[in-house]
Amino acid sequence: MIDLCSQESNPLLSIDAALERIKTAINPVEGSEKVVLKNALGRVLSEAVYSPINIPHDRNAAMDGYAFSSRDINHEQPFTLDLAGTSWAGRPFKGQLLPGQCIRIFTGAVLPNQADSVVMQEHVLAKGQTIHFPANTRLRQNIREVGEDIKQGGLLCAYPKKLNAIDLGLLASAGIYELTVKRTVKIAFFSTGDELTALGQPLASGQIYDSNRYTLSGLLTDACYSVTDMGVIADNKQLLEDSFIEAAKNYDVIITTGGASVGEADYVKEILDRCGEVNFWKIAIKPGKPLAFGKIGVCHFFGLPGNPVAVIVTFQYLVAPALKQLSGAPGSKPLQLTATCTTTQKKSPGRQEYQRGILTQDQHGEFFVASSGKQGSNILSSFSRANCYMVLPTECKGVQVGDKVRVELIRDAEII
Ligand code: AMP
Ligand code: MG
Repeated sequence: MIDLCSQESNPLLSIDAALERIKTAINPVEGSEKVVLKNALGRVLSEAVYSPINIPHDRNAAMDGYAFSSRDINHEQPFTLDLAGTSWAGRPFKGQLLPGQCIRIFTGAVLPNQADSVVMQEHVLAKGQTIHFPANTRLRQNIREVGEDIKQGGLLCAYPKKLNAIDLGLLASAGIYELTVKRTVKIAFFSTGDELTALGQPLASGQIYDSNRYTLSGLLTDACYSVTDMGVIADNKQLLEDSFIEAAKNYDVIITTGGASVGEADYVKEILDRCGEVNFWKIAIKPGKPLAFGKIGVCHFFGLPGNPVAVIVTFQYLVAPALKQLSGAPGSKPLQLTATCTTTQKKSPGRQEYQRGILTQDQHGEFFVASSGKQGSNILSSFSRANCYMVLPTECKGVQVGDKVRVELIRDAEII
C-alpha cells in the first residue's frame, strides 16, 4: 500500500529535525518568584540551593538500643555495663557517660560525646540496671555522624531542577521554608472547527463534541504552567486571526487544535504566516503530520492537528519538550524499551509511526507488546486502553508476530 502522505512535493521534516528547530527557537522564561516550600512541588528552581546546616545536625543513634564508649572493652568476651540513663529522640541524656556505663538510646536520639557504639536492643539482655552484652558484640556501629548526609554549605539541589516530592523532603530536612523558582509559563489553548459542540448540548447531525480541549487541559496540568482554556473558535479567518493576535499579547504560548491541515477550512498555517512567522509545518510522523510551529511576536505558537489521537502524540513528542524547555526544566529523553510484538501491525514506509500498544512484562522480565486496537487517528478508545507507543521507524513496512519493536511509554502510563 502506498502512503499518499509520503508523496509530498516538499520532503517532510523528520521528528528529530523538528525537535532541533524547537530547541533552537525556545529560551527559558525569564523572571522568578518566591514560593513557600509546600507550594514548590513541580516548580523549577531558578538557583541552586545550599544547606544552611549540617544534616544530621547532631551525632545520633541509627537504632533503638544501648550506647557506650568502646574504650577499655574487650568485645571478644561477654561484658556488662551499668545503665546510667536514657536518651530519647528530642530529649537528650544530660549527664556524663562514665567508663563501665551505658545509656538506653532510641533512634534519632543524640549520643553523649563519649559514646561511639550503639548495640541493638535485641542483642543484649537487660537485668535491672545491668545490661549484658554477648561475646563478639560489634563496636562503633549504628551511629549517624554530623553532616554525613549533607555538610553545612553543601549542595541540596542543583540548578536547574524541577522539584519532586523527594526534593521537598530534602529541602525541609535542611529547614528551607521558602525558595526562588522560575515564573510559570503562560499558556492559552483553543479548539477550532465549525463542527464542535460544547458538552451538555445536544449533538446535531454533523456535529461532534469538542474532546481536544479536555485532553489538552489534562496534558497541560503541571505546576510550571498557568493555563487558560480559550474555548472554541469557528472556522472563520478573521475570528481566528483576531483571537491569535489578542492571545499572543498575553501568553508565552498558544496551542490550537484543528484547521492545521490543507482542507478548505484549514486556516491556521495561513494566519500564522500572515500575522507571525512559520518555523515549520508538516512533520514525517503518523499520526500528527500537519503541525504548524512558529511565533506571533514573542509568543510561541503550536497549531496541532484536529484529530484527537494526533493531538496527544504531537503534544507528548513535540509540545511537551518545548514547554519543558520554556519552563527552565532540564530536558529529558523518553525511556526506550525493546519488546516482542505479539500482533501484526500494518505500516507503509515514509513516516515514523507511533502506534498505540499494550506493554506487558513476564516473570523473566521480558517485554511483550500488542496492538491496543484500531489505529485510526480518530480512535480514542484504543488510546485509552494503551500504555505505550510502538515507535515504528520511517522505513518500516509493517510488523510481524515475533518481531522486536521499539516501545516508549505513554505519559504517566504503567507497565501491566
Ligand atoms: P481538522 O484538522 O480541523 O481538519 O480536523 C481533523 C479531524 O479532527 C476532523 O474529523 C475534526 O472533526 C476532528 N476534530 C477537530 N477538532 C476537534 C476537537 N476539538 N475535538 C474532537 N475532534 C476534533
Ligand atoms: Mg477543522
